[in-house]
Amino acid sequence: MSKSANSQKKIQAIRGMNDLLPDQSARWQYVEGVVATLMRRYGYAEIRTPIVEQTALFARSIGEVTDIVEKEMYTFEDRNGDSLTLRPEGTASCVRAAMEHGLLHNQTQRLWYQGPMFRHERPQKGRYRQFHQFGVEAFGLDGPDIDAEVILLSARLWQELGLAEHVTLELNSLGSHEARAAYRERLVAYFEAHLEVLDEDSRRRLTTNPLRILDSKNPDMAAMLADAPRLMDHLDAESRAHFEGLTARLEATGIDYVINPRLVRGLDYYGRTVFEWTTTALGSQGTVCAGGRYDGLVEQLGGKPTPAVGFALGVERLILLLETLELIPASIEDTLDVYLIPLDDSAEGPAQLLAEELRGELPELRLQLHCGAGSFKSRIKKADKSGARLALLLGEDELSQQRVTVKFLREARDQQHLPRETLAVCLSEWLAQAPA
Ligand code: ATP
Ligand code: MG
Repeated sequence: MSKSANSQKKIQAIRGMNDLLPDQSARWQYVEGVVATLMRRYGYAEIRTPIVEQTALFARSIGEVTDIVEKEMYTFEDRNGDSLTLRPEGTASCVRAAMEHGLLHNQTQRLWYQGPMFRHERPQKGRYRQFHQFGVEAFGLDGPDIDAEVILLSARLWQELGLAEHVTLELNSLGSHEARAAYRERLVAYFEAHLEVLDEDSRRRLTTNPLRILDSKNPDMAAMLADAPRLMDHLDAESRAHFEGLTARLEATGIDYVINPRLVRGLDYYGRTVFEWTTTALGSQGTVCAGGRYDGLVEQLGGKPTPAVGFALGVERLILLLETLELIPASIEDTLDVYLIPLDDSAEGPAQLLAEELRGELPELRLQLHCGAGSFKSRIKKADKSGARLALLLGEDELSQQRVTVKFLREARDQQHLPRETLAVCLSEWLAQAPA
């Protein structure tokens, strides 16, 4: 391609990486607000880590033979020749940071994070290459009480967002390392006896990651998988007691769950509790939130043995779900209370001054000043389009009488000429009332 042809070509966003436009950002801020408040209520503190880490961190934590590490990571060499990776998930970074800063020394931690994650997957509805997660991680606690807590926290989030009846909690236990290893052998033997039914992907996994085969959505394998041995039936006694402790707590707090013996997770660090919150409203991208216990990970990354449990929630899927079910509150869409219009050139300076005074007097007020030229008609049109409830007009007459004209944009109500001194009080009274 010639240089000039190249410079003509429009540069576009990278496939699977989305711009978040103004009409969507209010929804994101709504969800982010609900989550941040909830985390505060449960005593979780936010941690923010870089989006780039050394590649080895993910290879060693998520597992070399997982889909994520094998084929989904954005890995590159930086200018020093170091292998770096855009984080595909949040837990590894969280553990790395907590260890590095001594947050795990003889203490418990309840942490949460939010931010973009990167995976080179096939983009489709609910599946992107840059996506966002909220996550929580609790360190230093090994009992089922904390497993129950993180699940209850997520359940309360569904409640707050109006989603409670639209999501299902699926639970499983992956048992201890030893129980899992013994089960793995039993499972491989079973699959080997049914080799003819296994698809190509599953045959490959037979030697690398046989538990993951249980997760297959291939309908031709469904019957064979339904009869596969269940890890649930081969749990070690401690894991069984732990799991029963968790289900008893969920029952006591009224959280419904279904046990899904085929629930395994795509990340190698999980043991004992694993769970997913799923929905049928989003097609095949039905998992909104997923997590579990990962007691071995801190040690695996060079720290002292530290029990840990957490989950990650996909923000795009959560917002898609809210949109699909029409659960976004209408009130978050209106962004302006007042549109202030100078009626002629000489009123421009005073209008800007008035705008600043009102913003000082009414810190909650959302006011936009009309800037730029335009006829009276086009200014009023802009006021209407702005979504504001009220337009304030300031022209020669208003300035000479120290008054402001108020026009009600959404109500059948006569316009008023208010003295400047009473303007702030009247505005806050009107705006506190629902539109007539
Ligand atoms: P899936 O089975 O849908 O691929 P996963 O097991 O890879 O999910 P996790 O790594 O556990 O997912 O991530 C937790 C949550 O993050 C998922 O439940 C989902 O809501 C969201 N998520 C994961 N990958 C993506 C993606 N590529 N695009 C959008 N959201 C995602
Ligand atoms: Mg995945």
